[in-house]
Amino acid sequence: MPETEKPLFGHPWIFIRGVPSLTFLPPEGPSEVAFAGRSNVGKSSLINALVGQKGLARTSNTPGRTQELNYFVPDGYSGEGGDLPPMAIVDMPGYGYAQAPKEQVDKWTKLVFDYLRGRATLKRVYVLIDSRHGIKKNDEDVLTLLDKAAVSYQLVLTKTDKIKAPAVPKLLAETAEKIRKRPAAYPAVLSTSSEKGDGLDDLRQAIAQTVGIANWK
Ligand code: GDP
Repeated sequence: MPETEKPLFGHPWIFIRGVPSLTFLPPEGPSEVAFAGRSNVGKSSLINALVGQKGLARTSNTPGRTQELNYFVPDGYSGEGGDLPPMAIVDMPGYGYAQAPKEQVDKWTKLVFDYLRGRATLKRVYVLIDSRHGIKKNDEDVLTLLDKAAVSYQLVLTKTDKIKAPAVPKLLAETAEKIRKRPAAYPAVLSTSSEKGDGLDDLRQAIAQTVGIANWK
């Protein structure tokens, strides 16, 4: 690999903090990308697969942390660049629990909307969609929230190993068509399988481009 190309995820990442309300947000620093999705969509698995660390996002899924924005940064990042990519990953709390009381949904919406509106360093939200289920009503609600907050987002299909291979391009096209008129949606949809590793490099590349670190791959 040439000197100018450095691995975006080829080093340890660590969990730095869970943010239950905006007062606990870390000061704005490097660019961040966030991951959102219905609970069980495969969000922890995808974050772990991206960085190649099995237990990273799991630590954030311990009870009590489920309603927090969880921050991950390269281990040892001091804010000064060097050999670590200047970026953070934010794992947003899952949504769409069948039995979630209204009060909890309102709390989720407030935390997320305040974060989306106020965070200048947030470059893009990756909204994960389970390949077997497609876009559901509560996904639509979240996309509407993102459009309202005017935060750029891109859809990422998960668990593509669970559907037949020829169905993937069809689903990608159908999903892209469904979001075509949404103002803040990035038009192209990505597909991934954390289990098989499919699509992970494309997602890594999309993230590198989004955070504007051209020499990190
Ligand atoms: P989260 O609630 O969105 O963080 O979802 P998890 O990452 O915990 O995954 C939920 C379930 O889906 C777990 O049983 C995972 O093993 C499974 N899962 C996640 N990603 C994949 C995938 O790419 N393929 C398959 N077959 N299963 C997956």
